[in-house]
Amino acid sequence: PSEFRGSLTALLLQAFGFPSFRANQEAVCRAAIDGHDLLLVMPTGSGKSLCYQLPAIARGGTALVVSPLIALMEDQCAKLTAQGFRVARIHSGLDRSVSRQACIDYLNGGIQFLFIAPERLRVPGFPEMLAKRKPSLIAIDEAHCISQWGHDFRPDYRMLGQYLPALRPAPVLALTATATPTVQRDILTQLGLQNARKFIHGFRRSNLAIEVTEVPQPMRGDKIAELLTNPSHRPAIVYAPARKRAEELAAQLNHLFPTAAYHAGLPAEIRDSVQQSFLSGKLQCVVATIAFGMGIDKANVRTVIHAALPSTIEGYYQEIGRAGRDGNPSRAILMHSYADIRTHDFFLKRDYPPIDIVQKVFNSLGNEPQPLDDLRAALAAQVDDETFSIAVEKLFIHGGAQVDFNNNATRGHANWSAPYNRQSDH
Ligand code: ADP
Ligand code: MG
Repeated sequence: PSEFRGSLTALLLQAFGFPSFRANQEAVCRAAIDGHDLLLVMPTGSGKSLCYQLPAIARGGTALVVSPLIALMEDQCAKLTAQGFRVARIHSGLDRSVSRQACIDYLNGGIQFLFIAPERLRVPGFPEMLAKRKPSLIAIDEAHCISQWGHDFRPDYRMLGQYLPALRPAPVLALTATATPTVQRDILTQLGLQNARKFIHGFRRSNLAIEVTEVPQPMRGDKIAELLTNPSHRPAIVYAPARKRAEELAAQLNHLFPTAAYHAGLPAEIRDSVQQSFLSGKLQCVVATIAFGMGIDKANVRTVIHAALPSTIEGYYQEIGRAGRDGNPSRAILMHSYADIRTHDFFLKRDYPPIDIVQKVFNSLGNEPQPLDDLRAALAAQVDDETFSIAVEKLFIHGGAQVDFNNNATRGHANWSAPYNRQSDH
């Protein structure tokens, strides 16, 4: 039962400053306010955050928001704080004292939104702390991360479902921009949302022009420079296939307009400052690996260029989705050549060992927990170290093994018959 009885449009204006709902937002908000679990699939930039934020305000109490990335959490907290809401977040990038204060504020009912990273739930005592004062709503942002069939699987998301019952009766809202029907089913199963309402809205972004063009690898730098020389094609994001390539391209473009590289190999301070400078407009272009951008909300990105063939369609969709969030015409340009396929073949072969090898590793898992290192050693003659690790990971993802990564131990289920095939993963 919702505490809020007034007009939702009035609340939208008063609390968020928006005069009207965007397509589908109102229906989703109503369902959430009424306490229904729901799955929301809506394009990037379409305003999914509001679909949990407004119901949270309408229902009162504290909303718990699970978010996969520190940058994303920081971005959303900053926005909500600027809008005058009381917000706290808990993640590994913060001092312990900040997290402790966030817990105290949560227990006192002093905050309206608490953002957490999923791995926080594995900290002993933390779920119990949350359960002491139950949230009024639970939002799971970027919910596709829960599914191995999605493009951005995170093992910690997989654990979420087991913590939800203790936090009920709050409605659970799963939100994502990219979920195939398989991923949708998987999200609902994993989270135990049998009765969820489904709001599935198209993937189409009518203001994005998608262009695919064949350009030999050595010519791509010049081609990108040429495309982005025109200031009306910036700000821009260029996705590079590797860290080194990102740095080279960034150096080349930086001669023409302020550009920096962004990848997971850079220290966190540098990554943060690149992101901030891009958001504020100081940087006109970021050349990034896929580490950049999930959920980052910069409205006026005019061009997203892929300097190489991306590895998955879902990832590609998310990446080009960062263009044109303001609704103005924007371009997504993909450069490829036949040579790109070889790189993907290499990674595909590495990441998906042949089924007989996976089966061999599975057969070596007993019913009792065993140290991974012992199993690895026992199979050393037949399976190399890296393949062993990948096979265990695949067995874990596909439900054939229980792996306690903290204690470096694993055991098999008796009945592994799970799907394992390259096609359906990609
Ligand atoms: P996503 O669906 O990708 O999560 P966001 O929730 O980040 O999208 O929203 C994208 C942008 O749209 C944000 O800047 C947000 O403030 C804005 N927005 C959302 N709803 C409305 C609305 N009803 N009116 C105007 N702007 C809105
Ligand atoms: Mg979002």
